[in-house]
Amino acid sequence: MFKFLKQVGNYAKATVQAAHHIGQGLAVTFDHMQRRPVTVQYPYEKLIPSERFRGRIHFEFDKCISCEVCVRVCPINLPVVDWVFDPSVRKKTLNHYSIDFGVCIFCGNCVEYCPTNCLSHTEEYELSVYERHELNYDSVALGRLPYKVTEDPMVTPLRELAYLPKGAIQPRNLLPNPQRAGLRPEEILEQMGDHNAN
Ligand code: SF4
Ligand code: SF4
Repeated sequence: MFKFLKQVGNYAKATVQAAHHIGQGLAVTFDHMQRRPVTVQYPYEKLIPSERFRGRIHFEFDKCISCEVCVRVCPINLPVVDWVFDPSVRKKTLNHYSIDFGVCIFCGNCVEYCPTNCLSHTEEYELSVYERHELNYDSVALGRLPYKVTEDPMVTPLRELAYLPKGAIQPRNLLPNPQRAGLRPEEILEQMGDHNAN
């Protein structure tokens, strides 16, 4: 008899626990039902990176004096400055310069301390490649003019998360129908259709 009661007790405990876990799961669902989506329809829409965004580094070969300050301030001594001393002009001549973005932590020290300002951060964050060695940028790749979201005719640049009201970055506790900051995907397609017709 005691064994039976113990089994009933265990069963009741397990049932309560299961109900508790289901309740927890549903609480997450109900919480999400209250929120606005924060989706960006990438790659058709892209957020404009903030002013001080630390993206892919741009390098100006002609301004570099091969001082290697960028190497010394880099926490991992990453930039490779390949130079030779030219005795005729008693100056260093730069042959190659490279930064491996597969290793770089985008701390910005090299940009900050370069005495000739030949390094600068761009807005570029799309650095995915199939082979990680492709992320080792030489001076030609580093010197390429940066991509800008606002200058790409194929992309709708968004200043804020499109589904949220202007200025809001939290999807919770919003009024039921405030004006969205951006357009819905179907509205973008409609606009593109009008644009193509013209
Ligand atoms: S951003 Fe930082 S980690 Fe990357 S090369 Fe410059 S100093 Fe090194
Ligand atoms: S700190 Fe600037 S000037 Fe000096 S080696 Fe590096 S990139 Fe060239």
